Amino acid sequence: MRSAVLRAGQMVVADDVADPVPEFGQVLVEVKACGICGSDLHFAKHGSTMVELIAQMRGTPDLGVPRVDLSRDVFMGHEFAAEVLDVGPGTEAPAPGTLVTSVPIMVSATGIADLAYSNLLPAGYSERMLLAAPLVLPVPNGLDARRAALTEPMAVGLHAVNRSAIAPGEGAVVLGCGPVGIAVIAALVQRGVEPIVAADFSPMRRSLASTMGAHHVVDAGQEDVFDAWATHGGSRPLVVFEAVGVPGVIDSAFRAAPSKSRVVVVGVCMGGDTVTPFWAITKELSVHFAFGYDLDEFAGSLRAIAEGAVDVAPMITGEVGLDGVAGAFEDLGQPEQHCKILVTA
Ligand SMILES: [Zn+2]
Repeated sequence: MRSAVLRAGQMVVADDVADPVPEFGQVLVEVKACGICGSDLHFAKHGSTMVELIAQMRGTPDLGVPRVDLSRDVFMGHEFAAEVLDVGPGTEAPAPGTLVTSVPIMVSATGIADLAYSNLLPAGYSERMLLAAPLVLPVPNGLDARRAALTEPMAVGLHAVNRSAIAPGEGAVVLGCGPVGIAVIAALVQRGVEPIVAADFSPMRRSLASTMGAHHVVDAGQEDVFDAWATHGGSRPLVVFEAVGVPGVIDSAFRAAPSKSRVVVVGVCMGGDTVTPFWAITKELSVHFAFGYDLDEFAGSLRAIAEGAVDVAPMITGEVGLDGVAGAFEDLGQPEQHCKILVTA
């Protein structure tokens, strides 16, 4: 079968990937739609840094997940919706023909494997892939595969909002309106947070932020977002969501956020960054970091999309086939035109 893989830093289509065969506890699916994630662009460019940082990291449980070998093809694509084709022997799973999604994790008797970056397991940029039967969620309400594929990135925003423990009566500033910032805005709207003041340099991203429910959107090149917050938010408690992931942004929030604000960092900055503790200390800022989501949040994200609480359609700005993945990776380097490009079958 065919799969778009990362080979020597480039996305190429491999025509000769072995057809996956479902074993006990596994489901074989045909991928219908898979979103291209900013993390995948990062990984294509800075994969070796990511692998090195993970190797140095302590304090996470050792799940025996094999380290990705960048000298071999890497399968990627972790924001997928797919149709069940076949089920492993003795396995309970949705019937063939059912549209499903899943967190990008494979569980088996031998341990846990990552479906986001793998040398072994084909993922969402493939014609077909294997999923872990216990993690498979049927897509409800006749929701189409394109929108169902947004479940994963929207869960990231939901998780960041949950981490902040923000409640109605409090307001939010969202720095950066790329896919992560947009997912945060959507989750804040659902939570009833008002006002949501968002900032980005890109006109396209700003207009999408408004469409998704941000109350005030400022041009980061023209106006200070914390001035806008002072105008629109007044003295409400504030949570700042950092969804840019570029050095200096956290420090700018430390400098400008009102006393007692919470800062939630959800943008992934790969390099080192410098902050000025003095600002955070004297204003008693609280800082949280948010990453990923749990299974309940993933399911909640799917439910919100399927029930129409969140309309993700405006986020889908492009569609390509497997042959178009390399070009889409290029296009997503220019944030002016795109939010989410889907790889569709
Ligand atoms: Zn992602």
